[in-house]
Amino acid sequence: MSELKELNNIKHRIAVASGKGGVGKSTVAANLALAYAGEGLKVALLDADIYGPSAPILFGLEGARPEITSIDGKEVFFPIEKFGIKIISVGFFMNPDQSLIWRGPMASSFLSRMINDTVWGDIDVMVIDFPPGTGDIPITLINEAKPSTAIIVTTPQKISVSDAHKSGLMFRHEQINVPIFGVVENMSWFTPTNHPEDKYYIFGKGGGQELANTMGTKLVAQIPIAQGLAEAADEGKLINYAQNEITLPIFRKLATEIFGSMDK
Ligand code: ADP
Repeated sequence: MSELKELNNIKHRIAVASGKGGVGKSTVAANLALAYAGEGLKVALLDADIYGPSAPILFGLEGARPEITSIDGKEVFFPIEKFGIKIISVGFFMNPDQSLIWRGPMASSFLSRMINDTVWGDIDVMVIDFPPGTGDIPITLINEAKPSTAIIVTTPQKISVSDAHKSGLMFRHEQINVPIFGVVENMSWFTPTNHPEDKYYIFGKGGGQELANTMGTKLVAQIPIAQGLAEAADEGKLINYAQNEITLPIFRKLATEIFGSMDK
C-alpha cells in the first residue's frame, strides 16, 4: 500500500466521542466539519458510528456508495465529497437493516480499512464520529486513526455524564494517551425564538461542568437545543441549519479553539 500511503496526508484528527448514543455526537461532528470547510480548510469526516451512522442522512447522501478502485492490487475507496467535506461513513457500506452484523472483529477490521484504504489525499483536519461507549471497537479505532485530540459530548443529565466519563477514561488510558480537549455539553437549554432571553433547562443543568470537573478538563462549549434542527437533519438539510444564528458562532469558536490546541 505504499502508493496510497504517499497519497494520504492527514495533518490533524479530532475524535468526537460520547458515552451513549443520542446525545448529539454526530451533530457536533458534522457541524465542526462544516465549520472547518467554511474556513477553507481541507476537511474529512469519518463517520465510524457503526451503531447508528448518521452522515448519510445529515448530508443528504442516503444510498450513496463510494467509488472503489484498485491500487497495488488492493481495493480502495474514494470518499464522497459534499459541502467541501470528504466523507466516508459506515452507512455507505451497509443497508439500513444490516447493523447487527457490524459487531465485533468484523467491525474493527472494517473501520481500519475505512481509515487506511481510503484515498483521502491531503487533509488539514479529519473529524471522526466515534461509536459511542468503550470497548474493542472504539479502541481499535483509536489505534488506527491516532486522534490528535478528543472531545467528549454529553447532555446535562447525570446518566449521560457517567457514561461519558467512561469514554473519557478510555482516551486517557496509559496505552492510548489521546489528549482530551474538553467536554461539549449539548442540548444544554432551550430558548424559544420569540423569547430570546429565556433559557429552559429541559434536561437538567450542570452535567457538562460536572463531567469536566471529574475528568480534570474544561467545559469547552454549551450548545442549546435548536428548534428545527432534528427536522433539518432528517431531511439532509443540515447545511441550511448549520447557518443557524445561535449555534453557528458556537461551532465556529469551538472549531477554532480545537484547531489551535493541536500541534502544528
Ligand atoms: P448521536 O450521534 O449522539 O447519536 P445525533 O447527533 O444523531 O446523536 O443526535 C440525536 C438527535 O438529536 C438527532 O435527531 C439530532 O438532530 C438531534 N439533536 C442533536 N443536537 C441537537 C440540538 N442541539 N438541538 C436540537 N436537536 C438536536
